[in-house]
Amino acid sequence: MSRRIVILGATGSIGQTAISLLRGNSRFEVVGLTANSDAETLVRDALALGVRHIALSNESAARRLSSNLPDGLILHAGEQGLLEVASLGADIVVAAIVGMAALRPVLAAIDAGSDIALASKEVMVAAGETVMARRLARGVRILPVDSEHSAIFQALQSRNSAPACTWLPGDGLQLTTPSIRRLILTASGGPFFFHPEVDFDAVTSADALRHPKWSMGRKVTIDSATMMNKGLEIMEARWLFDVPEERIGVLVHPESIVHSLVEFEDNAQVAELSVPDMAIPINYALCWPERVSQGVAGPLDLAAAGALHFHKPDERRFPCLALAREALRRGGTAPAILNAANEVAVQAFLDDRIRFSDIWRIDEAALDGVAATGAADLDAVFAADSEARAFAAGRIGED
Ligand code: NAD
Ligand code: MG
Repeated sequence: MSRRIVILGATGSIGQTAISLLRGNSRFEVVGLTANSDAETLVRDALALGVRHIALSNESAARRLSSNLPDGLILHAGEQGLLEVASLGADIVVAAIVGMAALRPVLAAIDAGSDIALASKEVMVAAGETVMARRLARGVRILPVDSEHSAIFQALQSRNSAPACTWLPGDGLQLTTPSIRRLILTASGGPFFFHPEVDFDAVTSADALRHPKWSMGRKVTIDSATMMNKGLEIMEARWLFDVPEERIGVLVHPESIVHSLVEFEDNAQVAELSVPDMAIPINYALCWPERVSQGVAGPLDLAAAGALHFHKPDERRFPCLALAREALRRGGTAPAILNAANEVAVQAFLDDRIRFSDIWRIDEAALDGVAATGAADLDAVFAADSEARAFAAGRIGED
């Protein structure tokens, strides 16, 4: 029987790569696609994949489409429409919406009993504890899509027990934290790590969008340039694998071939290697626990790569890493505050309203200036998120 799939954020970088894997693939039936406002891409892909349910979050884009909707498509409009498609009860919901906008639909999908193939890391950053509790209560699994977390997930399959993000009571052994000594996330370093001469007050958005290894959406590309992406990934890993912050390390690895490593209690490290292509982790999440070749990403030729390099990160030049660790240590709603301020700051940088270095100045100011609560229940998370957005906007000069 084919797996029924919904893709949230189908028109983005991850969404489009997922669609390229699913097109003409009889193992899967795509039942729903969503986007913010790109109706043209959404309709084109829905018709090509034979999808009936589509959602546009942007109300005016939905209104425009509804007046000339092609036959056979059912359009769901606005935030409510997004939740309706997230709740179709698919076998797997691919979460590929950027930012906190993914949180409500991911929770709706969990409540509808769907497993989540999770790219939207901000969801775990802001509300990881709640999401993990909810998925366990509903009996669904979170299958990591972020390449580093997929690598860790794959490395953990070498144990005869299940990692925290997929373990369910019927599965037998749960992989407990003591048997994992360390998680080591690799980072490309982004466009600036190997250029100490670069003046972070003068970097333009065009400079920062030129990622050396990955072609991705704009927000995650800027996060890679500040290395906040790795900070967010530390927080994501903390919840997906139930490993505390002090046991999650980072290694800068410019070739982006080793996608992350796990160190076990016997000091053995297990890694996953591949060419840098998101088709591999997306495919792994969609097919798990099987490995299925869908012929999308090319093979890895290590002899051609020649040498692999690893460097310690530089938390002085890239303060976002330390900010993320600090937020995790403070706990409660501190990570939600940092995440929200960062979303606002990155957008302001992309709009040429602040300098590159202002991103972490605003992030730090929000982490220190917005009061976090110890409890991180959903109401507290959404309140912290709004407060931090307002705080960051104030710093940028809006009101
Ligand atoms: P993107 O900007 O290319 O696409 C974002 C998608 O989300 C689009 O389909 C857009 O329509 C939708 N969207 C945006 N705002 C929305 C809103 N307010 N409501 C509803 N839908 C909205 O982003 P991306 O690069 O595909 O990244 C998506 C997520 O995956 C991010 O959390 C990112 O960190 C993560 N991720 C991406 C990559 C990558 O290679 N692109 C790798 C690892 C993790
Ligand atoms: Mg990543």
